[in-house]
Amino acid sequence: MSIFSMRTASLVVVIAVIGTGAYVLGRHDERAGETISLTSSVNAKETVRSSSSPVKPLAEQDVYYPGTEAIGPDEMRVAACGTGMPNARPKQAAACFLVELGNGDKFIFDIGSGSAERLSAMKIPYDYLDKVFIGHLHSDHFGSLADLWIGGVIGNRIVPLRVWGPSGHKPEFGTAYALKHLEKVYTWDSGSRLGNVDIRGQVLEVNEFDYKGINQVIYQENGVTIRTIPAIHALDGPVSFILDWNGLKFAFSSDTFPNKWWMKYSAGADIAIHEAFATPRILIEKQNWTPGAALNVGTQVHTSPAQFGKVMSITKPRMAVAYHFFNDFDTLPDMLDQVRSTYDGPLSMATDYMVWNITKDDIRVRMAVIDEDIWPQPAVGEKLPPDRSKRIGFSEFTLSGREPFPEVVQKIYDEINAEYGTNEEVPTD
Ligand SMILES: [Zn+2]
Ligand SMILES: [Zn+2]
Repeated sequence: MSIFSMRTASLVVVIAVIGTGAYVLGRHDERAGETISLTSSVNAKETVRSSSSPVKPLAEQDVYYPGTEAIGPDEMRVAACGTGMPNARPKQAAACFLVELGNGDKFIFDIGSGSAERLSAMKIPYDYLDKVFIGHLHSDHFGSLADLWIGGVIGNRIVPLRVWGPSGHKPEFGTAYALKHLEKVYTWDSGSRLGNVDIRGQVLEVNEFDYKGINQVIYQENGVTIRTIPAIHALDGPVSFILDWNGLKFAFSSDTFPNKWWMKYSAGADIAIHEAFATPRILIEKQNWTPGAALNVGTQVHTSPAQFGKVMSITKPRMAVAYHFFNDFDTLPDMLDQVRSTYDGPLSMATDYMVWNITKDDIRVRMAVIDEDIWPQPAVGEKLPPDRSKRIGFSEFTLSGREPFPEVVQKIYDEINAEYGTNEEVPTD
């Protein structure tokens, strides 16, 4: 029997016990001639409730509701907007962490597949979600960039999207090459929006830096400094990031094998987020990998949870955060066993929507509760009306196929003009 089926079996036993408990709590029952009751008659008299319920809001929540809490002037808030793997799943998007600072600045570190949806759940105007730092060009670390770039325009961003990412060992392996071609991929998309929406947010500002830089400053504005160090992962090019602000230090590995640069420059971070890949055992059991492949990817290409623990026991962050694994009831025990074999300090085993509030005195870890019906927040500045002269427009061929239903459309224009006091006319071109 594998460890997974053993754990499943013991879980069934636990559920059975809980079920019995609930049954006992729910009723008085007779067993073997005895009456079972959890409330004695004396206690029952003492717990008579007032006839009216004091319905008042709680002073504090155990969860984080995005958009409802100001950040303190000396506080850093980090939200996990992607903690998973390259293969998509509803529960966990791929790598993405949002950092918000007490000075109002916000930074996105990696934007892996599926993560733009999680960013939207944070209820922040897209004008402030305009700075993205990509650790390397695997899809699980930048696969959702186009969603933020183009979706952000539709979501009311009216400022350019600024992106920082590393060079490669050849130009075509660098961030500038990747994003120049991403823009080409979306030629039709960009063209279709000309003259129809305010496209100022469609500008992609790319800042490529040397992946070999050691503790090199790539960003310094408004009291915030972001440095990079080389990471070791898959090919030359990956980097890790370190953000310093107001005496607080945030370190994010993206993907890396344990390395000397991380050990030196992330040491003593207030929060250190480092990959901890699924254990070889999990890869074998859940994915049918051969032991050889699981050991190679799980301990040589990536950092295993035991290696993660070793790194953290040496660098001693105030909070160590493990991510880059599917965090489930049947995987967490093995992950945790492995981390705890080498590390006994403060630890978060990350999953999507985990949130850390960090000050010099305290680190609070909670889960965010998400509004599934989220809409984009309004633009911070005033949006420009579309300039119809910029439209590429249709060919005569396509125009000849239109069925304009003028009597229907005129009625919609009339209703909207009456309701909003405008004087819009149905276009004739
Ligand atoms: Zn990777
Ligand atoms: Zn990865």
